[in-house]
Amino acid sequence: MTLHASLSYERPRQRMVTDQLVARGIVDARVLAAMSSVPRHMFVDPALVSRAYHDASLPIGSGQTISQPYMVARMTQLLALKGHERVLEIGTGCGYQTAVLSRLCRRVYSIERISALHERARQNLRAARHANVMLKCADGRLGWEDYAPYDAIIVTAGGFASDVWLQQLKTGGVLLLPEGDGGAHRLVRRTKNTHGYSEEYFDACTFVPLLEGVESSLNR
Ligand code: SAH
Repeated sequence: MTLHASLSYERPRQRMVTDQLVARGIVDARVLAAMSSVPRHMFVDPALVSRAYHDASLPIGSGQTISQPYMVARMTQLLALKGHERVLEIGTGCGYQTAVLSRLCRRVYSIERISALHERARQNLRAARHANVMLKCADGRLGWEDYAPYDAIIVTAGGFASDVWLQQLKTGGVLLLPEGDGGAHRLVRRTKNTHGYSEEYFDACTFVPLLEGVESSLNR
């Protein structure tokens, strides 16, 4: 990325923050700063770069999408990260949400079930110089036991929570997911306590589905 190319996206990115995030109630200054600095255009297909800062999700290949900027900001704000946390993300996709999270917490562990996307996220995150990120290609419904317990778990595909996620959270930790069947989801935040969890419901939304198992490039 040349200096010229990166500067040329500065203005659409700031406009995205003002018109799509601030205007809709994103107030966490750290989230706004992260979204102002992560180069979203480096995470989308070259053919879609001109739409990288549009108010929409975009295709990233393998039938998946990069979430709409507002949804990335909204979900990140709901995690209320302060900087010391270790966060598990289920559904790396192209790695954009991962990059935003990595600027707001100590370490991000992110799982993607489609190997082609996992590889792409690895390249994107390397290019954007995100060092505190660990990626794995696996079924995220099983969590990532090796580094548990986490301060927060964020799921970026829609479906129903796996019991394992709550088990891999610290007491006081939060699990955020778009919950529901088919294309109709609602953001739910569960906070783990000593005898179970409390829950709060937020925005209605539509995500690609949370699926089982791993998809390697060989059987695609
Ligand atoms: N976080 C991304 C969103 C990617 S879309 C962003 O920044 O925009 C959701 C992703 O979840 C898809 O890539 C999909 O393949 C992945 N996914 C679905 N089910 C999964 C599972 N069980 N384990 C891991 N990843 C999963």
